[in-house]
Amino acid sequence: MQEEDFIIEIRNVSKFFGEKTALECINLSVRKGEFVTILGPSGCGKTTLLRLLAGFQTVSEGEIRIAGKEITQTPPHKRPVNTVFQKYALFPHLNVYDNIAFGLKLKKLSKAVIERKVRASLKMVGMTDYEFRDVDSLSGGQQQRVAIARAIVNEPEVLLLDEPLAALDLKMRKDMQMELKEMHKRLGITFVYVTHDQEEALTLSDTIVVMSDGRIQQIGTPIDIYNEPANSFVADFIGESNILNGTMIKDNLVRFCDTDFECVDRGFGEQTPVDVVIRPEDIYIFQQSDAAQLTGVVQSTIFKGVHYEMTVLCGDYEFLVQDYHHFEVGDTVGLLVKPMDIHIMHKERVCNTF
Ligand code: ATP
Repeated sequence: MQEEDFIIEIRNVSKFFGEKTALECINLSVRKGEFVTILGPSGCGKTTLLRLLAGFQTVSEGEIRIAGKEITQTPPHKRPVNTVFQKYALFPHLNVYDNIAFGLKLKKLSKAVIERKVRASLKMVGMTDYEFRDVDSLSGGQQQRVAIARAIVNEPEVLLLDEPLAALDLKMRKDMQMELKEMHKRLGITFVYVTHDQEEALTLSDTIVVMSDGRIQQIGTPIDIYNEPANSFVADFIGESNILNGTMIKDNLVRFCDTDFECVDRGFGEQTPVDVVIRPEDIYIFQQSDAAQLTGVVQSTIFKGVHYEMTVLCGDYEFLVQDYHHFEVGDTVGLLVKPMDIHIMHKERVCNTF
């Protein structure tokens, strides 16, 4: 891919706060019009990365280019980006129209141009009839839409969104997720979105950047990240996983729970210690029989709406299992996993900072 296909290019960027390394050698390229989500636990550096893009903080090492221009030292108001914050940061004493028009008035644009731009951006966020409402009289979701309208009124190349839905209740958050996705399609602007919510990232994004401890752990589509996590941190953070210590017996045979399991050959040598990752929904659970690879006893059963979530103790390890059928606590059951659902990974420290 040629460089000009990227709207954002982050090259070897690090950020230090005194002794603290908040970001370490970040490399990321974002395509024009992409919806990219930076996902990770609290303190992993996602807001810092967004603030470096916005220009609210300065880069310690490395370079950032936006829309083909090196902007590492460019002040925030001269960058082709705008930010939407978790707290909507609206002016409470101004109505919807004046909140959106505020920056345009500072730029001394004509009244007619301001009116056209404000109306166009209100239309984009579905708030056409709200021009003269006090912002205080709006719901959280409506206030966030006004904040987005204000951020897009200058037609930025890139919209930076820092946990914009975090203050909303669950139902409103789900509705707004759908609206944001629609808005992104309509606007054609590149969105860089920060969240610690895995489900939100999977729902919204073209590309997810998973971070921990100031470093990028994996960049990929939601499907790649979910199905092919690069390491046990990603597997654990995106959805729930069983993560076990294993040892390779042969190229396509791994031992865990004192049992040998067939697996896909990933090029790990004999006797290599590995992390074995198995999704709860990939484990078959049935009445104990000879077909079982493992036998265990059900420790808990919870009804989750569509499926049941059960824990099953097999030797020393308690497996998390999801299935439409359920078993009672104390039942002896058999478990089975297909070779392709046994994910073998380099051993890695599982970082549980969240
Ligand atoms: P959260 O989801 O809680 O907002 P985050 O992933 O956005 O977390 P950052 O806010 O980017 O994380 O912080 C990354 C690290 O840098 C943290 O350890 C934080 O304490 C540290 N940090 C951030 N800003 C500063 C600062 N101004 N001075 C010192 N340390 C800072």
